[in-house]
Amino acid sequence: MITGIGVSPGISIGKAYLLHKQQATLTGILLLNDRDVAIETEKFNNAAALSISEVETIIAGYDTTTNSTEGLDILEAHIELLSDPQIKDDVIEKISKERKNVNDAVIEVIRDAVQLFKNMDDEYLSARAADVQDIGDRLLKNLSITAKTPTQQYEPDTIIIAEDLTPSDTISMDIIHVIGFATLVGSRTSHAAIIAKSRCIPAVVGCGEQLNSIKNNDMLILDGQTGQIIITPDQNTIEQYQIKRETWLAQTAQLRSLKDTPALTTDGTIINLLANIGDAGDMEQAIDLGAEGSGLLRTELLFMGRDALPTEQEQFEFYKAVAQKAKGKPVIVRTLDIGGDKQLPYFNIPAEQNPFLGYRAIRICLDRKDIFITQLKAILRASAFGKLKIMFPMISNIQEIRAAKAILEEAKEELIKVNLPFDKTLLVGIMIEIPSAAITADLLAKEVDFFSIGTNDLCQYTLAVDRMNEKIKDLYDPYNPGVLRLIAYVIEQGHKHHIEVGMCGELASDPKATLLLLGMGLTEFSMSAIAIPQIKNIIINNGLSAAKQVHQRVMKMDSSTAITAYLQEINT
Ligand code: PEP
Ligand code: MG
Repeated sequence: MITGIGVSPGISIGKAYLLHKQQATLTGILLLNDRDVAIETEKFNNAAALSISEVETIIAGYDTTTNSTEGLDILEAHIELLSDPQIKDDVIEKISKERKNVNDAVIEVIRDAVQLFKNMDDEYLSARAADVQDIGDRLLKNLSITAKTPTQQYEPDTIIIAEDLTPSDTISMDIIHVIGFATLVGSRTSHAAIIAKSRCIPAVVGCGEQLNSIKNNDMLILDGQTGQIIITPDQNTIEQYQIKRETWLAQTAQLRSLKDTPALTTDGTIINLLANIGDAGDMEQAIDLGAEGSGLLRTELLFMGRDALPTEQEQFEFYKAVAQKAKGKPVIVRTLDIGGDKQLPYFNIPAEQNPFLGYRAIRICLDRKDIFITQLKAILRASAFGKLKIMFPMISNIQEIRAAKAILEEAKEELIKVNLPFDKTLLVGIMIEIPSAAITADLLAKEVDFFSIGTNDLCQYTLAVDRMNEKIKDLYDPYNPGVLRLIAYVIEQGHKHHIEVGMCGELASDPKATLLLLGMGLTEFSMSAIAIPQIKNIIINNGLSAAKQVHQRVMKMDSSTAITAYLQEINT
């Protein structure tokens, strides 16, 4: 048995498919026209540029006082190989003359080059075959960022096993045949995990090296709640888990019957339960599960899994479809939040030492006004078809809010000039997910109509713990008193300044946290739709005065160990 972090509940019983290891197989798909040739060539150039900058980043951080210079030589050799005109020419020739797709072209060119090196008599040169294979693997990895995993690739009841999955891998996953996935890296709040949850795919992440013991076609049981994966279980265990699966499905069905019950505490406070969504389909599913709208539309998902930026018209149609599916209920549209673990291959953000501290979200939008204003105009136009609100992510200071709002005003003026309608009363808010924003919530509240607390990033930035790094996953702890104090302060200041405060980070969907957050005064919770019934069940069975006591007690505790033990106890 392997234990990782259960991030998306449900039990899957199926066969393992080792994604990245098998991805290096030829697909045999030939290109039909010159446009395909141009697209595949562009993909190769992008993957090569990305690979070079990745290796350059490793070199920049390479410490020769503690590491051998041999390692540095190897990395430099990789840059040379990645820039080798021969490899490039061979790949492009296979694409343009033989009409092979870029994946197959790279596999074949690398395979031939590896063979060539292996056959060399010189021992040193012969050993370079491993380096060629290495850069080939890197190229294929970087190509797969945009590669859609085709339906026919998977047999029914497949459990994907991968080192990592990008958010776009998870988005394009064929959910008819793929019934679960497990990854070596990742944490509860890595974006692939969040998307798995919103798509209701049971998933376990951060399994570490032990995941490598799984072989293709191994029979697996994956429990997305406990994080356990059982490899080649016996018939008895399979039957036990089949029963567990049915019980889980029955409980879920029972909770779902709360769909039309209002989320009212026993002392009559109405709580707004909203869904975090990626598109109109998610909105529809969320309404079905009892969501009162969406507290977070992650618009970057529209920008992923494609080859170029979506146009204003494409974006308008997309946001309009979401607004219409919301049937008059509010939707908070978050402007583009790329960077960090959400990369757009066609956007070519140079590799950074610390992507989560780098060129990300509002920082990109304020720098690339062309992209930002296009998105704002599209959202504004869609606001004529529903109740949309706009939210800026990754705000760290007041200037960013003012700059973003000024561009929003320009977008409005452009629409007024051409007589395009939009909602003139549309509310504007920000995510509070950077400690400086939380600490200055009193100042920022004067600039906006609402706050939404993004605990996923707030936790990583407050505790200096990378949300993707499974080695330090135990340190990633939203129950740290420091994080909880920030959250309580933001809610308090929001209310003091009479603006709405919601939470759209994963903490909003953790049943252990519900009473505590209610006690802090939070009245708007946004989460993966699948979690709504369970949270509603807690709300309708508890009163605000009891929740306030929970809050007061927790605030007197000095460690997350004590806090989580107490919250666990009152939750059972
Ligand atoms: C957050 O940081 O809590 C959040 C909701 O945004 P994301 O997970 O998309 O970074
Ligand atoms: Mg965030």
